[in-house]
Formats: sequence, structure tokens, C-alpha cells
Amino acid sequence: MSTRSMSSSPDLPPEEFREAGYAVIDRLVAHFASLTSTTDQPPVFPAITPVQLAPLFEAPAPEQGEPLTAILADWDEKILPNSSIQGHPRFFAWVNGGGSQVGALAEALAAGLNPNLGGWRAAQSAVVIENQTFAWLTELLGLTPGTTGIFVSGGTMANTAALRMALVRSATWDIAALGLQSSAGPRRLTVYMADHEGHVSFTKAVDLLGLGREAIRRVPSHQDFTIDPEALERMLDADIAAGMTPFALVGHAGSINVGAIDDLAALAEIAERRSLWLHVDGACGALGAMLPELRPRYAGMERADSVSFDAHKWMGIPYECGAVMVRDPAMLRRAFGVTASYLHEQSDPLLEPYDFFDRGPQMSRGFRALKVWLSLRLYGAEGYRSFFRQTIHCAQHLHALVEAAPDFEPMQPAPTLYIYSFRYNPGGLDDDALDALNARIAEEIKRQSIALVMTTRIHGRVTQRLSIANPRTTTDDIDVVIREMRRCAAG
Ligand SMILES: *Cc1c(COP(=O)(O)O)cnc(C)c1O
Repeated sequence: MSTRSMSSSPDLPPEEFREAGYAVIDRLVAHFASLTSTTDQPPVFPAITPVQLAPLFEAPAPEQGEPLTAILADWDEKILPNSSIQGHPRFFAWVNGGGSQVGALAEALAAGLNPNLGGWRAAQSAVVIENQTFAWLTELLGLTPGTTGIFVSGGTMANTAALRMALVRSATWDIAALGLQSSAGPRRLTVYMADHEGHVSFTKAVDLLGLGREAIRRVPSHQDFTIDPEALERMLDADIAAGMTPFALVGHAGSINVGAIDDLAALAEIAERRSLWLHVDGACGALGAMLPELRPRYAGMERADSVSFDAHKWMGIPYECGAVMVRDPAMLRRAFGVTASYLHEQSDPLLEPYDFFDRGPQMSRGFRALKVWLSLRLYGAEGYRSFFRQTIHCAQHLHALVEAAPDFEPMQPAPTLYIYSFRYNPGGLDDDALDALNARIAEEIKRQSIALVMTTRIHGRVTQRLSIANPRTTTDDIDVVIREMRRCAAG
């Protein structure tokens, strides 16, 4: 394709556009094929930092257009080789999703139509698809019929939106008008979650909501890292006696270090009895409720006021894609409703569920729903169940290896989900030495691009933590990690 000439149209002629599209798709085909290739699998973690890379991209702001071939050459030579490979079967860091081909195609279609899902007038079928997708998810997760949701950027925004709804329902004053500054409003609004595994996204949530970080009350957890409901009740009583105003409980459906699932039925009972909002942070694990064999572990989730999950993690939907679901759909409007003369033409209650500017934190919104809707249709729930089972199987395989090995030890009970923490412990070393050794092992595994493993701390000790969210991962990949960790420990 030639240099973009001075033209009044941004559109390429059809033939040029097609050629450009094929050039892009050819790269994606090669990329996805490489992920599981036995001959030219890319390194999972390139040995370069953004500071080293920045000079490669330094250039004057482009004044004249360039041919696409030149830009795609940069993709081939500069971008791809200098990127961590999310879809790599040995990308085990954080809780990241492996992406998907169909997700990438859906993104292209969504961007091509480019609807703005702020309101239905700009996106008729797109807003229907968003609501339909949540109807499916409600059914697949066994949530209370009538539950709905909205797509947001990720779990952090989903948790923030959930706490906003909790505040709005709990406030005895006009919180929309007065916020947290009402002289009638109680001053210390508090939210409760397990001490060990509470996710840091709630720190961001209370920051954004102006609650202050001390609003988060950390409740002692059991040996298995789930919240202790009796300790929670004692803390609630003591806090109320001390003048605090609890407004929400947070349960985890899949906690960040060990994949623990709180006793959600116990939390629901406490929340109902005390009129507190129950939010389930299922960013990494709520989707496990799709598996009949795991469903009993989620009992009570259907009684939660809100549930969040990240489609960009276990489901492999391309970033960004988080979701917050709510049992009482009216809460969305109560928490996020606005009016402006340029937004409303007429009000028709039947159309309200399609005006998302009134039902979520964003005004303009992209067509995130398409990639979820399209993927669910392409793979079916059964497809996802088999992906999820594959990842859980890998985590269980890892646990079995660790238990059988004389020089590794589990740092958690047998995994329920796909997240697993353990450490190397050859014996004869104290905890500080083991911390240093395990940190060095993870660093070497990354440096040699064998796998991307991050450490975390369990009860203060450095721990290897694998998030096996990618169904491309096989037990062979797990075997490689254990073997290479042992080698790195010796080296
Ligand atoms: C990932 C995660 C979050 C935050 O989600 P983002 O999409 O990164 O904003 C919150 N809670 C838990 C348990 C998570 O795993």
C-alpha cells in the first residue's frame, strides 16, 4: 500500500482495505500458531525492559502518513518480539487470560461497526446483545433469575461499581446529592473481607469512592484462607459499638493467591440478617460455577447483591473485559443515573434497560459484549467447561507433583480452581533462606524464559504462585516448570 495521500476520506479503497486486513490476519494466524508450536514457540518473557525499548520507538510525531507495510514491519520487528506472550502456555504470572482468536476477530467487528453503547439510540442491537449476554451468564452461573449486569474495563472497576451500589442502598441520606459529605451521614462507613486474600482492587475502589483505605476491615480467615464468619460477626458487633457503619461484605469466589472460595451461604445469611450488601468478587473464579462438579462450592452466590468477574481472565476474552452483575437491576440506575438535557429525548420505562449511560459509571462505552457473546456462541458453555477443566486438571497435577516431591511443599490445600501456591524446600534452610531461594528460582525461570512465574507471599513467606488460566497449558508444561525450578535451585 502506498503512502497515504492528501485525501479528504479516511477510508481506503476496498481492495487496499482488504489487502491491509489480510496482512493483519496473516500475522495473527502466525502468532496463534506459534503459541503451541514445537519448533518456533516465542519466548514467554523477552529479556528487555521498556527503558531499553523506548529509543527504538522514539521518532518525531508523524507529519506525513506512512505505508501500512512500514508500520506492520514494526509490528514484526519491534512490537511482537519485545512483548510478553500472554497466550503462551507457560505464562503463569498474575491472573492473566490467554486471549483467543475469535476474541480478536470480535474486537475487529466491534470496532468496525463502532457502536457507542452509552445509549440504545447509538447501538440498538449492541445493547440488546449486552443484556442478552448477561441473561446467559445469569443462567450459566446459577444466579437468581432477573439478575443483570454491565461490562466494564475489569475487576477493579466492577468492584468499584459494586461498592458504589452498596453505598447508595445503605445510605440513609441523599447520597446522590450529598455524597459522603452529608452532615447527616455517618462518618465511618466500613466494608469487610478476608484478611489474607482480600484483593488490592478494593484499595483502589475505596480510593475512588472517597471512603479512605481504613474503610476496609480485614476479617480473620480460616486455615484454608476463607473468611471466618464467626470472626466477621464479632468484628461487626465491635465496630458498630465503636460507632462505625458497616455497609458491605465482600466474599471471594476464587481468591488471588490460592483460589479460595469463601462460604458464600454463610456470608449471605449474615448480610441478609444485618441488611448489608453482599458483593462476591469472582474476578478470577466466579465462572467456576459453570461446572456442575464445582457448583456446590458456590452455594449462596445467587443470594449476593452483586457478583463481579473478569471475562479477560479465565475465559480468555481479550483485554479489557470485566463484568459486574446485580440481583436487583434497579440498583444500577439508583447508583449511576444522571440527567442532562442532551441525553434524554423521552423516557420510556421499557427502554430504560438499554440506556447504559444511566446504569453504569461510563458514558461512552465500547461493544465489549460482542466478544463475550460471540465466544459463548462459538464454543458453547460446554466448550468453556472443558477449557476450565483442563486448567484445573493442570493445577491438580501440579499439586500432586509437589506433594510427591521431597524438595517441594504446598503452601495451600489442594487447589479448587486454577491458582496454586507452593514453594521449593529442600530441607535444612530457615524461612529467610527459603524466601531468598524461592525468589531466585522465580527470577531464573523468568530470565531463562522457561516460564513466567511470579512469587507472592503466603503468611509472609515467599511462594511460587502459578495461575494456570490458559487452556493451552498441558501437564507437560507443568512438568517442565517443576523440573526447571529444581535445576535453577541447584544452579
Ligand atoms: C484480577 C482480580 C481483580 C482485579 O481485576 P482487574 O481486571 O485487574 O481490574 C480483583 N479481584 C480479584 C480476585 C482478581 O483476581
